[in-house]
Amino acid sequence: MSTEFTIDADWASQYIDGEFVPSESGETIDVEDPSTREIVTEVPAGVEADVDAAYEAAAEAQESWAEQPPARRAEVIQNLLGLLEEYEEEITSLLTHEVGGSPAMGQTSIQIATDHAGEAATLPRRMKGETAASNIPGKENRLYREPKGVVTVISPWNFPLNLSMRAVAPAIAAGNSVVLKPSTNSPITGGLLFAKLFEEAGLPEGVLNVVVGKGSEIGDRVASHPESDVVAFTGSTEVGRHVASLAGENLAVPAMELGGNNAHVVTGDADLDRAIDGAVFGSFVHQGQVCISINRHIVHESVYDEYVERLTERAEELPVGSAHDEGTVVGPIIDESQRDEMLDYVERTVEAGATLETGGETVDLEGVDDSLVVAPTVLSDVTMEMPAACNEHFGPIAPVIPFSTVDEAIELANDTEYGLSGSVHAGDLGVAEEIAHGMETGNVHINDQPINDEAHVPFSGIGASGVGGYNSDAFLDEVTETKWISVQTEPRDYPF
Ligand code: NAD
Repeated sequence: MSTEFTIDADWASQYIDGEFVPSESGETIDVEDPSTREIVTEVPAGVEADVDAAYEAAAEAQESWAEQPPARRAEVIQNLLGLLEEYEEEITSLLTHEVGGSPAMGQTSIQIATDHAGEAATLPRRMKGETAASNIPGKENRLYREPKGVVTVISPWNFPLNLSMRAVAPAIAAGNSVVLKPSTNSPITGGLLFAKLFEEAGLPEGVLNVVVGKGSEIGDRVASHPESDVVAFTGSTEVGRHVASLAGENLAVPAMELGGNNAHVVTGDADLDRAIDGAVFGSFVHQGQVCISINRHIVHESVYDEYVERLTERAEELPVGSAHDEGTVVGPIIDESQRDEMLDYVERTVEAGATLETGGETVDLEGVDDSLVVAPTVLSDVTMEMPAACNEHFGPIAPVIPFSTVDEAIELANDTEYGLSGSVHAGDLGVAEEIAHGMETGNVHINDQPINDEAHVPFSGIGASGVGGYNSDAFLDEVTETKWISVQTEPRDYPF
């Protein structure tokens, strides 16, 4: 397979034991560019035999990788960082072709991926053990931090580069081997690209294996493989529950980052300019296809009308169109089924009594048959029972819900099974903090919007948004084991 980083390179191979090999099935899956709807390349349609070969290679390679000195493991990740910089333009273009990411989305993805790889590069030297005093005379307790073994990484399509990176890089840095299964909507930027980058970075054969195939065909085998010690899954809550149960049966650690239904709370005394700047970014960046984007705007009744009017104006000004156009902010939805689901949520929310302020329809693109671009949409008079508010929508939709008291705002924000991220704008920092503490979510951002990820800061969802921690030491704990070795330095006094 050629090592070039363009969409029309040969991507139709799995990456197993350091080799680009065809799938055992001999079949391929087409990859469509969501902006143009053209088939741009093909990837393998994996089968269980490919999955088994990947785990066999990962299990075989892990021990000698874990024995490499910290400086050597860090060096590979440092090399990877250099390659992310060298191939920035090519990777941005791959994201545009594969998932409809605008150039700005591509650059943001590379920045976040670089942050995660940078943090991962520190892990080998930070993996320290400790000692603990013993209750038994003459005993020395030593605690060693060791890699778990084989880490399975299953990633989604929305921000494939950085979401695969945040699990793959630290797992490898800590001395594990990895089997990576990307989404079939992002098989390259979430998967096969990693094979090329890590190979060029000097990772030994078998430490990273990439298997591409439909979740419905190979997903269960990946999630339940007996060689898997950790399953690091990012995706929907529905699939995540199933994957966690398969991992659990196998006693593999489930590290699950799932869906969200995030609230942006704006009080009556908030700085509306800042609240609306945050609202526009938090709702519409990457067409709202972000797990931590704003799903619901919860706005005090005293500023509600002005907020709706200003948000609508700003939504109508956003550049909408093909992700290939430099200035585009709102590009295409990933595929037809997701687009239709978005439009259906809007239609049913309006039928239930909401007002469609703007959007709610597809935007035709010249020369494109059946465009996937959905116009930025603002809905007012929304209540929590309506489909656009009670479901996790993954599109450029901003439902605005009024509230009258702080307690009501907190109650509305928490009226969901999810608990991923959120944001609060309030003039009084004390009130903002009260609301932030009251919100049952893993992350809340005051006087900002909910989309934040910093590789050195712990990130985790609660409730239906996941179990286990990501980023830095939190993820290091998921992919390592603490081993207790005690040394009895003098004869012990046993009772018999
Ligand atoms: P998805 O759940 O449909 O798919 C996620 C991954 O699971 C894909 O690789 C898919 O192929 C795989 N999969 C499907 N069936 C499987 C099975 N039976 N066994 C094993 N794997 C299987 O999610 P998606 O549509 O790719 O991504 C969007 C979802 O991801 C949204 O719900 C979003 O909120 C969530 N997400 C969460 C975070 C977070 O950090 N919490 C980040 C990004 C996305």
